[in-house]
Amino acid sequence: MISADDCMRYCSMEFFCPHCETKLSPCEVPPFHIGDGLGWGTEVFFVCLNDECPPFMRGWEHIEEQFGHVGSYRYMRLPNENKGEMMMVGNKMAFTGSVLDPEVILAANARHTQEREWVAGFEQSIAAKDTTPALGVLTDKRANKDHRKKACDVLLKINDMACFDAVNNLTDLNPELENATNILMTELLKKNFLRECPDCAEIIKLKASVCKHCKKKAE
Ligand SMILES: [Zn+2]
Ligand SMILES: [Zn+2]
Repeated sequence: MISADDCMRYCSMEFFCPHCETKLSPCEVPPFHIGDGLGWGTEVFFVCLNDECPPFMRGWEHIEEQFGHVGSYRYMRLPNENKGEMMMVGNKMAFTGSVLDPEVILAANARHTQEREWVAGFEQSIAAKDTTPALGVLTDKRANKDHRKKACDVLLKINDMACFDAVNNLTDLNPELENATNILMTELLKKNFLRECPDCAEIIKLKASVCKHCKKKAE
């Protein structure tokens, strides 16, 4: 991911399209390079996203005639080269989704920093019996998968049933995390001499003979 500093630097650069005078938009480069496979040598390039740009308007017909498929050209240049080139795009939307947005990048960086701080504080949080860092990481869908798995271990070590519902309410887990959270919940119940009522799924004491929630006889 591009750093906030780099994002700000790129966003402050001003280049203009030689065909239509529109200010070029800084876009994150796609992770692949069409053609030589060598990579772009930059994380950001600047693209004319003006739909009225003459070569873009003419390009559709040209590519249809020349190659028999749908596409056109956008003008683009790299930040450190003084000339640009025409780049083939398959549709109008190409690159519009990768325009650098300082607000988005700053938010993503803040989130990333928070995640790093939480992970760094895992050991200490076990000693302090503080579930905040581990729950923070585990419930963050954008957090690193291994960090989220580690958070499960941390929560188990802290052994605080108060985190149970938050873990139980997690959605969209991949199979690995699903498994890790299931183990976490099973172990938490076991460690606290609890179990789920087979009838209403509320948490009851392991030895309870009647569920205090649904009043059914618990086997
Ligand atoms: Zn242009
Ligand atoms: Zn019950």
